[in-house]
Amino acid sequence: MSGEFFGPDFTELEAADPEIADVLLGELGRVRSGLQLIASENFASPAVFAAQGSVLSNKYAEGYPGNRYYGGCEVVDRAENLAIERAKALFGADHVNVQPHSGANANLAVYAAFAQPGDSILAMSLPHGGHLTHGSKVSFSGRWFSPIPYHVRRDTELIDYDEVRELALVHRPKIIVAGATAYPRLIDFAAFRAIADEVGAILWVDAAHFIGLVAGQAIPSPVPYADVVSATTHKVLRGPRGGMLMCRADHARAIDKAVFPFSQGGPAMHTIAAKAVAFAEASTVGFKRYASDVVTNAATLTASLTEHGMRAVSGGTDTHLALLDLRETGVDGRTAEARCEAAGITLNKNAIPFDPAPPAVASGIRVGSAAVTTQGLDATDMRTVASLVARAVRAEMGTDAGDREIASIRDDVTSLVTRTPAYPRA
Ligand SMILES: *Cc1c(COP(=O)(O)O)cnc(C)c1O
Repeated sequence: MSGEFFGPDFTELEAADPEIADVLLGELGRVRSGLQLIASENFASPAVFAAQGSVLSNKYAEGYPGNRYYGGCEVVDRAENLAIERAKALFGADHVNVQPHSGANANLAVYAAFAQPGDSILAMSLPHGGHLTHGSKVSFSGRWFSPIPYHVRRDTELIDYDEVRELALVHRPKIIVAGATAYPRLIDFAAFRAIADEVGAILWVDAAHFIGLVAGQAIPSPVPYADVVSATTHKVLRGPRGGMLMCRADHARAIDKAVFPFSQGGPAMHTIAAKAVAFAEASTVGFKRYASDVVTNAATLTASLTEHGMRAVSGGTDTHLALLDLRETGVDGRTAEARCEAAGITLNKNAIPFDPAPPAVASGIRVGSAAVTTQGLDATDMRTVASLVARAVRAEMGTDAGDREIASIRDDVTSLVTRTPAYPRA
């Protein structure tokens, strides 16, 4: 059995459904043999998976602890109460809702709690790092609400707080959103709070990406500033795939009603139990060290990539992720992504601010350090990773020399990751 990792139930899966058992083994093999630099990904612990793959999956528990629409909820209530209490203690939040099925679902609930269709929402422009749920036309957020995008400055590539304030004064948005999916720097929550207060807007911080760094006290918390904070639990936070919401006490009712019954049905109690496990893990000294290492590793990786001729957007990073402008290498983001993938390095192409290339091509790549730090790679390894990425980006696949180079990088990747594999064999 592979069971080095999957545990005793895996034998049953192999007997009952060899095809899906093979998918699990294939994915485990993929992450064990390559470098995972996707900034939103991480490796959750076996304890998180044990809670998630459990009997709690069966239970219907519409409602909230102590107030359910179904009987038999007294046991699962304990899981949800533990998740809530642990998250409140970890983040110092007045109120926590752990039911959102994902980050996008949590965001839908924020709109439902504070806005009506047609209301204007001030949020970061998608090509400058914002998320689809912050007003893209292909998402409910852009279809049902009126997004007003703000941007980063051309010179610094940092959020243009003057523009945020000017747009807020002109448009008087119902909600101002701070938080992004591809912004490597700290966000000035106090500045956003002041602007929101000036125009009477709700301040919503979408902390999906960086909430794990907040949990580990590696970066400042948005909780004291925001009316509501949405987050995922599976990115740097390293829990099960899911979402969560934190808000001030006076918004508690609106937020809870917006999640259930407005936008969701029964909560995923197995995932909520796994969120509780992740919050406990994130409260440890070990996690604090992890969060600090994630930031150090991202900084080292970014500085090394810069030395290899890739320009760091905004000049660097304060978080777990960086955006690299590849134009000086003459290779576009799409090509870079494909070459890295062939070499066993998984990352994504990404638009850079004011990108002249179309989004499907993109001039940049995004890298993150959360997963590689979990598996135990350190700052010295980050220099090796940077040189492997730099070689892969320049390897001309399809030529003999390029293909040989890709194969050689793949060997180097394998020897790097097998030293400290994700999910080591027992
Ligand atoms: C990842 C992300 C989300 C969405 O989370 P999902 O769990 O994928 O739905 C929302 N907002 C931001 C800023 C994100 O980075």
